[in-house]
Amino acid sequence: MSTDPTTTVKAAAATVWNDIVEHVRLNYPELARGWFTDLRLGDIEQGVVHVHTMNRAQADYLEQHCRRSFSEAAQAATGRLVAVAFEPGEDAGPGDGLEALGFAHDEQLVLNPDYSFDNFVTGPCNRLAHAAAIAVADEPGRAYNPFFVYGGVGLGKTHLLQAICRTVRERPTPPNCLYISCETFINHFIEAVERGALHQFRYRYRHVDLLVIDDIQFLAERERSQEEFFHTFNTLHQSQRQIILSADCSPSEIPSLEERLVSRFNSGLVALLDHPCLETRMAIIRKKAKLRCIEVPEDVIRFVASRIDTNIRALEGALIKIDALSQTLPGPITLELARESLGTEPAHPITIPTILETVAQRFNVKVSDLQSKKRSKAITQPRHISMYLARKLTSHSLEQIGGYFGGRDHTTVLHASRAISELRTADVQLRELLDEIMTEVKNAAH
Ligand code: ADP
Ligand code: MG
Repeated sequence: MSTDPTTTVKAAAATVWNDIVEHVRLNYPELARGWFTDLRLGDIEQGVVHVHTMNRAQADYLEQHCRRSFSEAAQAATGRLVAVAFEPGEDAGPGDGLEALGFAHDEQLVLNPDYSFDNFVTGPCNRLAHAAAIAVADEPGRAYNPFFVYGGVGLGKTHLLQAICRTVRERPTPPNCLYISCETFINHFIEAVERGALHQFRYRYRHVDLLVIDDIQFLAERERSQEEFFHTFNTLHQSQRQIILSADCSPSEIPSLEERLVSRFNSGLVALLDHPCLETRMAIIRKKAKLRCIEVPEDVIRFVASRIDTNIRALEGALIKIDALSQTLPGPITLELARESLGTEPAHPITIPTILETVAQRFNVKVSDLQSKKRSKAITQPRHISMYLARKLTSHSLEQIGGYFGGRDHTTVLHASRAISELRTADVQLRELLDEIMTEVKNAAH
C-alpha cells in the first residue's frame, strides 16, 4: 500500500513544527504557550519558514515577541540557516476597516493572545469590571458608555481592554475597533496640528465604532490634547459609538484633568480593579500554569499565592521562574523546588511604619513630623518621599496611605508620589537617594 505524498509531507512538517515548539519550550519557557501546537508550518522559501496562525492577533503578537527565538529553534530543528515569519492562515477571518480610515496597522497596539475573557479569573476584586466588560463587548455603545476601568499596576486593566477588543474583532462582521495608547492619540494630534491636517485627524477618529485607549492618565497636563479629546469623545458618544478607557486612578484623581472630562468619564460606568484575595490569586496561578502547560501541585500554588500579594504580573513571573528552574532538574515541580526558586525566607511585607522610620532617620526628622500637617520644606520633601515609597513598596490603597499621614486625602498622596516620581526622572542625585532608601527599607523589613 503506497502512502499519499501530501500526507507524508504534512506529517514531516508537523514533526518539524513539534521540534521547534519543544526547542522554544526548553530554551524560552517564558514564551511557551499551549496553543503553539495549533499553528501550522507553511512553505519554506528563500530561507524563510512561513508559519500560519489562527488569527491576525496571534501573528502580530508572535512577530513582535517571538521571532528571534523561533528562528533559532527552526535552525536547530532543520539544521539550516532559516528565519521564521508568522502570518494569519487562510481561515483567519476578516480584517477590520481601520486601514480604510487611514490608520496604519502598526499604529495600533498589538493584542496579546492570552488576554481573553476565558483567561481572566474573577473574584470579589474584579467581578463588576469583568461583567461590565463582557456587557460592553456584547453590545458596544449601548451597555455602558463610556466604560472606564482603573486600578494599580498589574491588576488586569490592559487584559480586560484587550479581551473586549478581541471579542468584537472576532465577530463575523467586526466593527472598527481602534485600540491605541494615549501617547499615540497625543502624537497624532500634535502631528495633525503641525501639518495643518486637523480635518483629516478628526475624520479618522470620529468614524471609529469603538475607541479604546489604555492609560488615559497620560492626558494629564496636556491641555490642548484634552480639549481635542473632549470633542472626539462627544462626537463618538452622541452617535452611540463605544468609548473604553483605562487609568491607574479614578477620573477625578487624574491630575489637572479638565472638569468637563472628569464628568464625561464618570457619566458611564467606572469600575475598579482591586487587589485580588488569596483564593483569586491561587485561581490565577492555576490558569496561567494551564496556559503555559506547566503542571503545578496545589501546595506550590498556595505557596506562591501567599508569598506574592500585590501585583498579578509578579505572580506570573514567579511561576515562570519556578518552571525555568524545574526544566534544569529531573522530576516534577515540588514545594521544595519552589522554595529554592523564590528564596526560602518567608516574605516579610514592607509596612508603612518601616518606611516612615527609615525616611525619618535618613532626613533626621521625627516620624511624628512626617505625619503632621507641618509645611516646612525640611519636612514636606521627606513626607512626599515616604508617600511615594508607600505607594511603590506596599499594596495599600491611596486612602490607606493617607491614613498614615494624619488622615490626608487620597489625592494628596497621589500628587505627592507623582511629584517625586517626576523629580526622580530628572534628578540623578534624588534617584540615587531613593534607591538607597528603598534598599534600607527592604533590609529593615527582613
Ligand atoms: P495592568 O494593565 O493593570 O497594569 P495587565 O492587564 O497588564 O495589568 O495584567 C498584568 C498581568 O496579570 C497580565 O499577564 C494579565 O493577564 C494578568 N492578570 C491580571 N488580572 C488577571 C485576572 N483577573 N485573571 C488572569 N490574569 C490576570
Ligand atoms: Mg496596562
